[in-house]
Order: sequence, then C-alpha cells, then structure tokens
Amino acid sequence: MAAPIDPSSQQAIAARLRFYRDLGLTELYRRPADPITIAAMQDEIPLPEDRDGALAEDPAISSFKPAPQAHQTPESAASSNHAEALRLIREEIGDCTRCALHKGRNKLVFADGDPNARLMFVGEGPGADEDAQGLPFVGRAGQLLNNMISAMGLKREEVYIANVVKCRPPGNRTPEPEEANTCMPFLWRQIEAVRPEVIVALGSTAATYLLGQRQPLAGLRGKIHSLRGCRLIITYHPAYLLRDPRQKKEAWADLQIAMKELGLK
Ligand code: URA
Repeated sequence: MAAPIDPSSQQAIAARLRFYRDLGLTELYRRPADPITIAAMQDEIPLPEDRDGALAEDPAISSFKPAPQAHQTPESAASSNHAEALRLIREEIGDCTRCALHKGRNKLVFADGDPNARLMFVGEGPGADEDAQGLPFVGRAGQLLNNMISAMGLKREEVYIANVVKCRPPGNRTPEPEEANTCMPFLWRQIEAVRPEVIVALGSTAATYLLGQRQPLAGLRGKIHSLRGCRLIITYHPAYLLRDPRQKKEAWADLQIAMKELGLK
C-alpha cells in the first residue's frame, strides 16, 4: 500500500495542482510508480547523488575534497568560459555607483542560475526580498516564477535569471530610463556570456529595454522575436500575474512557445 503523505507535502501538492488549474491544465496523468524512486523516498536506497551524502554534508570535509582531475574537453572548456565571462562581468560591476539606485541598495542583484542555460528569464529589477538576499526573484513573484519554471519541466537551477537593473528602485517603482540604460550594457554582456537559445522577457520593462522600443505588451506577446542570435519571447511579469491570475493562461501559452523552441514539448 502507498505510504501516507505528510500534511506539509499534501499542502504543497494542493498548491501545485491549484497552480496548474490556473494555467488551464486540468488533465493530469499518473505515471506508474517507479520502485527505485519510491524506495529512495522512503530512505531505503540513496539516490545516486546521495551515495556519498555523509561526506558531502560536512562542509569542512567537502571543501577539502581534491579538485577533480583537469580533463578539459572542448565542451567543458566552453562551459567554464561562460562562468568565467560572468565572473568578469560581476567583477567589473564591482560596488557600483554608476546610477542613483546604488544609494538605496542593500545588496546588488547580479543574477542566478546556470551560466550555460539554454533558457534565460529577464525581469525588471530587484524588490525588497531580492535586495535583502542579493538574488533575483526570491519573493512572492519569484515563487510564482519558480512554479512557472517547474511547469515547463525545468528546475530553477537549470535556467539563468537576471534583471534590467541590478539595484532596487525605491518603493519598487519602474526604473528610470537613465538607470535602465546605465545598467543594460551589463545585461547585454550577461546574455552574450550565457548565450541562451531562448530569452523570456517578463513584463514590459524587460521587453522595452531588450527590444530598444516601448510598445504595448499585448502586441508583443504570443510570438517569437529575434534578438542578437537568440529567440525572444515576451510575457507578463509574475507580479502582474499575482494581481490578475486570470492572465496566467496567456502566460502559459507564451511559455509553451518557449518550450517548443527548446524541444521541451
Ligand atoms: N521582480 C523583478 O522584476 N525582478 C526580481 O528579481 C524580483 C521581482
């Protein structure tokens, strides 16, 4: 018999199902249970990545693990280039005072995710939670973005997430053109470093500065734009979707275009 599900997992599953329903996904299928996964969930067998869990859990030990032997294939060299290019961009930004936003900043929010991601999300700018943690999309809008990413069949760690501006605009106002234009060269360089196949612009500020022109979102959504060798898809900002959940279906349709481009559906 299946093991009972604890109340917090039940709540998480219910929240996820509500989210799928809001997206218009009403038909879900159960896959036959995989005995290995079930056993692992019941702590009977460790999943492969847990096999040396005892060592990995001790930071003092894991930090002294010998580095893996340098064995660079062209692919690993290319992937470390992405990370190294991003590191250099972050270094150049430094303790930035290039625009007025630095005055109210707690932490500069550079980006989060995989330097080799095939999919990149671009938002507007950090809010209070992001400013406190130094990471993009970690507040309520970030929770929704995480759900959108997992509905696409991806993990947050597999995509790259950045913003038009890297410091929080006071009171979460829209960045002024001077602030956005000062910060955009760094976003362009992040895009060049990651070289994603698909970029999803979240909301009209991201769309405006990526396209270099302001246009109503309605006319920009639902199609593929070409942007510096990448495909750009424009959708609603998660914060807007929190205010008007009826638009989630439209956003899901946009994300499905991205999934198709990435061969995920
Ligand atoms: N909104 C954004 O546009 N970016 C964030 O990082 C968080 C909220």
